[in-house]
Amino acid sequence: MLPFFLSVSELHLLKIGENPMTEKLYYNNFRDTEFEAKILEQKKENNEWLIVLDRTLFYPEGGGQPADKGYLNDIEVNNVLKKKGRIYHYLSNELKSEFVRGKINWEHRFDYMQQHTGQHMISATFESIFKYGTVSVHMSSEYTSVELSTNAVSETEVRQVEELVNSSILKNLPIRYIQTNDSDINKFQLRRPSKLKGNIRLVNIENYDCVACGGVHLENTRDVKLVKFFKSEKIRGNIRTYWKIGNRAYQDYEKKTQLINRLRNVLNSDENNIENKIEQLNIEISDVKSQRNKLRKGLVCFYKKDLLLNRQPDKPERFISRIWNNEDGEFIFQLLKSMINEKNIIICFINKNNGIFNWSIGCSEDINVDFNEVRKNILIPLNCKGGGKSPIWQGVGTDSDKAIDFIDKLSKTIGK
Ligand SMILES: [Zn+2]
Repeated sequence: MLPFFLSVSELHLLKIGENPMTEKLYYNNFRDTEFEAKILEQKKENNEWLIVLDRTLFYPEGGGQPADKGYLNDIEVNNVLKKKGRIYHYLSNELKSEFVRGKINWEHRFDYMQQHTGQHMISATFESIFKYGTVSVHMSSEYTSVELSTNAVSETEVRQVEELVNSSILKNLPIRYIQTNDSDINKFQLRRPSKLKGNIRLVNIENYDCVACGGVHLENTRDVKLVKFFKSEKIRGNIRTYWKIGNRAYQDYEKKTQLINRLRNVLNSDENNIENKIEQLNIEISDVKSQRNKLRKGLVCFYKKDLLLNRQPDKPERFISRIWNNEDGEFIFQLLKSMINEKNIIICFINKNNGIFNWSIGCSEDINVDFNEVRKNILIPLNCKGGGKSPIWQGVGTDSDKAIDFIDKLSKTIGK
């Protein structure tokens, strides 16, 4: 068996012996999922119980790699954090025994081992081919990102890195953890220099990468399975690249395959023709929109004439109103805008829609509407909202049965 090796994320560097209390099984026995341990300390803090054990398989959050998930005596471990060299397990309930059985979620652990080792390979490849250093890394449940010390990365460069990493994964390169110290560190060719004092742990991917790191890694590159780049963005003058790594890359492939299948069905199209089909639909949509605009203009003319000619006998002459049901809001707005070009006119349109209603009020420029009066006499009593500035005000009423009331009140308030 290989000697015991440790990995360190570039951003989270651990030193041997900094926590003599808890034996770090997650380094020594990183394939194990269950363990037994003795409780050394248990204290309550902010409704949580903090447990220190004499040994643990739970990797504490650090270096971009999240804490392990799992259980202590069937009580879920909410988080694992390292503070001043002590590893604290956070639980919602107290542990009522001297010894505990622990179990970690292997799927979660393995996923992040894939993310972390994959990230090292990506960082090493950008560094070796293009001299782009790694500024920061982030591993979330959705993606792993690598921020590079460059202000531009081309598509070709990324593809080159992706291809080299994937071909190196297939070479099944062994990954070893090396224990060394600050006086011997110069014997190693590190991707980035280590400023650590005392004992230092290195993670070494054979003939590929060597760097100080405190995370938990895979034993060989083959287990990374696959890395897939999917996007990049500028950040703080650097470029952040986003990756799907390991089983996630396969799951992402499966998700995209299903999406393509749904698109094929929806568009009734062959996979290779989906793009053309969408472009064709976009052209059709824009034709239909321009036809609709023409029709809308015609309708605006028609309704304007009709409303001006056929005034409501029970309302003041300059007051024109109409109630619509589920009408195109844009058409109503265009009609309102067109009508306020007339002289001495106040318009109120209501559009009822699913139990509520949209109201709009407009006036010609020779008329002054005191909207405070409207708010006081109509909006507040009828539980309506909205506002605007002369010559157009708009809003919503919560009860479409009050639409007629709205118009009556308005005609009395400002129609005269
Ligand atoms: Zn690392």
